[in-house]
Amino acid sequence: MDLATSRLAVLRAQSNCPACGAFVSVHGTGEAHNSALFKCGAIFDVRDGEPLTVLKVCPAPSNVAVAQLNRQAETLAADTPHSANQRNP
Ligand SMILES: [Zn+2]
Repeated sequence: MDLATSRLAVLRAQSNCPACGAFVSVHGTGEAHNSALFKCGAIFDVRDGEPLTVLKVCPAPSNVAVAQLNRQAETLAADTPHSANQRNP
């Protein structure tokens, strides 16, 4: 199997988002291309023998990052005296 064919095969075999694991929604396939749309919104693509690319990044890592920032903010609010949001007065 040549590299272009194996790139197509690898993307066509993806049933879950490689970044977050969300299920695939649609595989758009053709002779020399494949696009995979995942439930998370990510779109991966391969065509014309080129390496796989990402057309729309998976949003899950950003959701994880923003949740961490919210936890930091909650901790800061709880540790700051005279805070309106103080958890342990
Ligand atoms: Zn994803």
